[in-house]
Amino acid sequence: MPAKNFPLSKTQLEELAKTYPTPFYVYDEAAIRKNAQAVKSAFSVFPGFIEHFAVKALPNPFILKILADEGFGADCSSYPELLLADMAGIKGEKMMFTSNETPAREFKAARDMGAVINLDDFTHIEFLEKNVGLPELISCRYNPGPLKGGNAIIGKPEEAKYGFTREQIVEGFRLLKEKGVKRFALHTMVASNELNMDYHIETARILFEFAVEIKNRTGVRLEFVNLGGGVGIPYRPEQEAVDYSKLAAGIMQVYNAVIVPAGLDPLGIRTEWGRVITGPYGWLVARAVHTKSIYREYIGLDSCMADLMRPALYGAYHHISIPGKETAPADETYDVVGSLCENNDKFAVQRLLPKIVPGDFVVVHDAGAHGRAMGFNYNGKLRCGELLLRTDGSMLPVRRSETVQDYFATLDMAALDKFMAAN
Ligand SMILES: *Cc1c(COP(=O)(O)O)cnc(C)c1O
Repeated sequence: MPAKNFPLSKTQLEELAKTYPTPFYVYDEAAIRKNAQAVKSAFSVFPGFIEHFAVKALPNPFILKILADEGFGADCSSYPELLLADMAGIKGEKMMFTSNETPAREFKAARDMGAVINLDDFTHIEFLEKNVGLPELISCRYNPGPLKGGNAIIGKPEEAKYGFTREQIVEGFRLLKEKGVKRFALHTMVASNELNMDYHIETARILFEFAVEIKNRTGVRLEFVNLGGGVGIPYRPEQEAVDYSKLAAGIMQVYNAVIVPAGLDPLGIRTEWGRVITGPYGWLVARAVHTKSIYREYIGLDSCMADLMRPALYGAYHHISIPGKETAPADETYDVVGSLCENNDKFAVQRLLPKIVPGDFVVVHDAGAHGRAMGFNYNGKLRCGELLLRTDGSMLPVRRSETVQDYFATLDMAALDKFMAAN
């Protein structure tokens, strides 16, 4: 079983916690860069390949800048995410704008910034034309419906709200061409946290075959297909990571079988992976503050699901380790819990761990994607900050922890004072 890695020792954490009290996130720059380079190198078999990092997974401009340095673009789902990408120097068509139920003003912002707009519905063609005008390049999101089997987090495509049906895509490209659009792309996103490589190769096949059909039925030749996100990570120590080179080779095989004989080579390949890019290289570091012995044994942390909600939301497994006790026998069974007034606020349920005492650091692994990003303020919980472990070993704070001032920032205090005085 491969051991789960954490880049800091207990002594280093003790030192760090003097400046940055727990809880906090730590991201490992060297590991993120190395991983980004591995993705790029594996997919360099496809000329012009671009990975558009899904900003929602880790919406921090410091991280986006690192990924931009490695040649990545961004996949944005809202105006604030477009701004984050822009801040990090990711510009124009390096940005995909994949949104749904999109207001006109967000389409306008995406258009003004030159992002590739990825339409979620047939009716959005007219909506975009009427409110913003049609750009030269348009991508459409395909929902393959019953053609594609389901996946635990994202569910069955035919039950998902996203995308055009097959016939709507064909009609959509006809209409876009008629309206003068010059460049076209096809997108899909049908999986989340999927470790099975064949699932992703099959997604590529569906898009490639559809690209051929679209050409035959409408004359539209696609510039690129975007395979979406959804590549999984091994949250459990016994799971295995997806091998990027094998995945790229598998997709290439289908490309050679479908795209090349149809005369559609070169067709650009894009991805918008989030989780697999940063997930394994981020950790939530908390401390045990209480132990409690009732019908079960509990370890209470100074963090809660407001900092990391995946376990509570999906029952997701996140590995936990106790710095300084790496080799201690894991012979205690604990529920490791947060402080929120919700009984599902548990980082781990009935988990075998070494004996934990108050003051011990508790490291939650694989929290570098869909972690801090999904945080919230329910119960008046203040979200924790983020630290970046630089390649030279130094630590850079890339987001401070929230304060009560942040929590009150949306209240109009002057209006409140008046209201208090008058009532
Ligand atoms: C969430 C999402 C992604 C990223 O998914 P991961 O599972 O993090 O790879 C990519 N594209 C779209 C449209 C998404 O909604």
